[in-house]
Amino acid sequence: MNHPAPFPVRERITSFIDGQWLAPGGKALSIVDPASERQVATLYGADEAQTSAAVEAAHRSFAKRTWVDMGTASKQAVFRRIVDLTRSRLDELAWLECLNTGIPYHYMRERQLPRILRNFSFFADSMSQGVEKAATQDGEYLRFVVREPVGVAALISPWNAPLALASTKIAAALAFGNSCVVKCAEQTPLAVARFMDILAEAGVPPGVVNLVNGLGEVTGRALVRHPLVKAISFTGGTQTGRSIAADAAPLLKRVDLELGGKSANIVAASAPFEDALDGALTSIFTNNGQQCFAGSRILVHRSIAGRFIESFVARARRIRVGHPHDAATEVGPLANAAHYGRVLSYVTLARREGSQLLTGGERPTDHPVGYYLQPTALLARSNRDRVCQEEIFGPVVAFEVFDDFDEAIAIANDSSFGLVSYLWSNDLSECLRAVTKIEAGTVLVNTPMSLDLRLPFAGYKESGLGQEGMEGFRRLYTQEKTAAVALRRPAMARLGAGPA
Ligand code: NAD
Repeated sequence: MNHPAPFPVRERITSFIDGQWLAPGGKALSIVDPASERQVATLYGADEAQTSAAVEAAHRSFAKRTWVDMGTASKQAVFRRIVDLTRSRLDELAWLECLNTGIPYHYMRERQLPRILRNFSFFADSMSQGVEKAATQDGEYLRFVVREPVGVAALISPWNAPLALASTKIAAALAFGNSCVVKCAEQTPLAVARFMDILAEAGVPPGVVNLVNGLGEVTGRALVRHPLVKAISFTGGTQTGRSIAADAAPLLKRVDLELGGKSANIVAASAPFEDALDGALTSIFTNNGQQCFAGSRILVHRSIAGRFIESFVARARRIRVGHPHDAATEVGPLANAAHYGRVLSYVTLARREGSQLLTGGERPTDHPVGYYLQPTALLARSNRDRVCQEEIFGPVVAFEVFDDFDEAIAIANDSSFGLVSYLWSNDLSECLRAVTKIEAGTVLVNTPMSLDLRLPFAGYKESGLGQEGMEGFRRLYTQEKTAAVALRRPAMARLGAGPA
């Protein structure tokens, strides 16, 4: 096996508040390597008081305006140092993230974590580009808009791309002048904790970025409900999103919810066959199948279904399942024991529902330890089956066969989710019809996932509320204030100025 050299692991992870790591204490949670099932670190969960201390530190830094008034050029310099330091520590961050998530190293090192560099570079560039509105035409008033940061933002993220997702939120919140409290998933704190050191070293002032972690019901909830938190950026499951929206409602907080998906991947009769095959395999098995935009329902036209499914299954069987640090590995273990059990329960459910198991569904025999699952493909009976309606979030895909393109669109839309949809087709009218008719926040034609921070990434239906991307970030992290300055005395009633 070809493994990169190991890096030191912070064995006791606590909260990072006002530039300081707290001493260990409170509820201890095991941090487990999903490949060995062994504990590699302990997380000391933040209780309500600690979470409140983190929010107050963020609030103090915001009130002192240490970050917001630093000046754009200085903030840009900090962002560029974050990029440089992260680039120089990419091997370490990737190694830690793999140890904790089970995601293959080469994917983490080459694809997922370079998103941090893109995020901070993008916002370093865009930070100086904002121009606001002014209304100058009427000669009576000069009216203009002042854009201000909202204050303290809570940034809550899941375990499937811990640092890549958290870094997007941190870069965006800071770029618009806010302070923040980060709450990443309690199962995967290792790389995010290390990133806090990088932010401090790069010159982010104490209190501007704070980290708390612990159970969602305890730490996450305390954070969402804290009155000094003004905006919440959440990426995670739909059920959690509902609960956060409810907890945020009494104080009318700004909320952005990036939630689950059950994306359809339509392979039309005219599809470029090999591209569609590569795209379908990538869309479901990358990141060990644990991605919100996984193409987890493959809808294939009957005229090519036999050949396509056969080729897909042959390739799926040859996917190298292995240790996440092994350079040859294409699919690693699932992220944690509870999730592994949940994904396996869907294989059992699929059998019960009458799906045909085409391949996989078992632990690979050469991996008796670790949360490993063979890449799995099913032929579903109907799109109404639970395996076609519920997010499995693992290397499990369901095939469905269609006869007519409009039927494929109807099947794609027959879902409570609407995050992403893929289409493989060489027919222009089909491509455009898919773009206009599919109910999803992103429609990808002849390509796997491709993100662009300038444009919205958001879910339709139960896949989300709000959006990530430049405009959505601006709406979430800033508020507009309209000023009206009279250029001459305006017409005004003169109350009390009449004869006595
Ligand atoms: P989750 O909802 O269980 O947890 C996400 C985060 O929320 C964790 O940090 C957790 O501790 C916290 N949390 C849980 N309950 C909370 C509460 N009541 N209040 C505040 N915080 C709480 O999700 P998960 O299992 O970690 O992640 C998988 C889900 O994330 C999938 O549904 C996936 O589709 C989704 N996801 C969506 C996107 C997207 O951009 N739309 C991206 C990645 C993952």
